[in-house]
Amino acid sequence: MTITPERTDNGIAQERKLVTSIPGPASVALQARKNAAVSGGVGVTLPVYIDRAGGGILIDVDGNSLIDLGSGIAVTTVGNANPYVSANVAEQAAKLTHTCFMVTPYSGYVEVCEALNRLTPGNHEKRSALFNSGAEAVENAVKVARVYTKRTAVVVVEHGYHGRTNLTMGMTAKNMPYKEGFGPFAPEIYRVPASYPYRDRGLSGEEMATIATTRIEKEIGAHNVAAIMIEPVQGEGGFIVPGQGYFAAMAKFAKDNGIVFIADEIQSGFCRTGNWFASEHEGVVPDLITTAKGIAGGMPLAGLTGRAEIMDSVHAGGLGGTYGGNPVACAGALGAIRWMEETDANARAREIEAIMVPRLREIQSAHPTIGEIRGRGAMIAIELVKPGTIEPDAARAAALNKFCHENGVITLTTGTYGNVFRFLPPLTISNELLNEGLDVLAAAFEATA
Ligand SMILES: *Cc1c(COP(=O)(O)O)cnc(C)c1O
Repeated sequence: MTITPERTDNGIAQERKLVTSIPGPASVALQARKNAAVSGGVGVTLPVYIDRAGGGILIDVDGNSLIDLGSGIAVTTVGNANPYVSANVAEQAAKLTHTCFMVTPYSGYVEVCEALNRLTPGNHEKRSALFNSGAEAVENAVKVARVYTKRTAVVVVEHGYHGRTNLTMGMTAKNMPYKEGFGPFAPEIYRVPASYPYRDRGLSGEEMATIATTRIEKEIGAHNVAAIMIEPVQGEGGFIVPGQGYFAAMAKFAKDNGIVFIADEIQSGFCRTGNWFASEHEGVVPDLITTAKGIAGGMPLAGLTGRAEIMDSVHAGGLGGTYGGNPVACAGALGAIRWMEETDANARAREIEAIMVPRLREIQSAHPTIGEIRGRGAMIAIELVKPGTIEPDAARAAALNKFCHENGVITLTTGTYGNVFRFLPPLTISNELLNEGLDVLAAAFEATA
């Protein structure tokens, strides 16, 4: 079989089809086993157990076909079981599955780092290192910035999300469910205002940056700060696109004060927003970039990439981990990256935005509960409020989500206030399926009005 970039449906009919109620009996039975076997701390958004997936469809164990508007939280950007990813993974798994790169290395790790160095913004000399999860990449970014600057303070922003390990929980803004009861958190983490144009009472991105940098100067001392880390589009915070100039002003402040500026592109990176990295929309070249999620088509892999002098400031052996840059995960990433390059995935992300935004505007005109439509590329959200106010309406978001799920569309909510409905379709979804998903959403607005 020849693998072409177009053939991404994994042999699955690209249609929404419900043959049972959602969840169906086989899923209900599995969920009972889950509750008896899996920690209650591991929550499930929609207890529909998936058996196969491809294109824009997930097929569950009852034979229902659901439209995927979530990509497993921005991971299967190149589609589920993408043929390039699956073929590379199968081939690599048959050759060797592990040696530990720190013991006896292999070429895939080096190739992924070369790709990261080539694709991330800026043509300065770069180095990369690979890890297993986004949180681990974030932790390592902080380690590198502290060694390089010989400073300790880490600045993050309101609504930021950086992971679930101890350091990254401390860096994450939202308490419930991420932090509740898990403290104490690591010291020397400081949170300053983000730019959230919908809720900043008319203040511009640049004005918000001035508020933030003044806070850094007065409350921390810029000379004590090792790193400023910001997501160029905030993911778990609510798909918040910063106001014009905010991201660039924060990067400039970092540069002027010898602070390492880190873009957390774990959710926004790898063609999700219509550019390889969302920092490009802001005209910013970060010193370091963290990546994960979309990098490897579903294989667990994360990266840290940045200026050679910063990345090389760490002593040998200071960075690493038993599984970091696992050869099978690296093979998956090389497949995903090749697909993105060959198919011009960024153009597809922009097409998805061009389809979604007008349709969401149409829904908004009939349903003023949509306070704002925002996002970039295939990372689009609507913020739900009590009409005529900016008061969050999380209950409406939950009701819409429930309706979509029951009607075979996988949707996700997000946001500090839980009132943001977000869309992260795989780039392999057909226009027909995408439009059908939006038809279901429109029906959800009618049904929950
Ligand atoms: C998901 C995410 C993380 C954490 O990644 P994990 O792989 O879940 O550890 C960190 N930062 C951002 C912006 C994310 O979206």
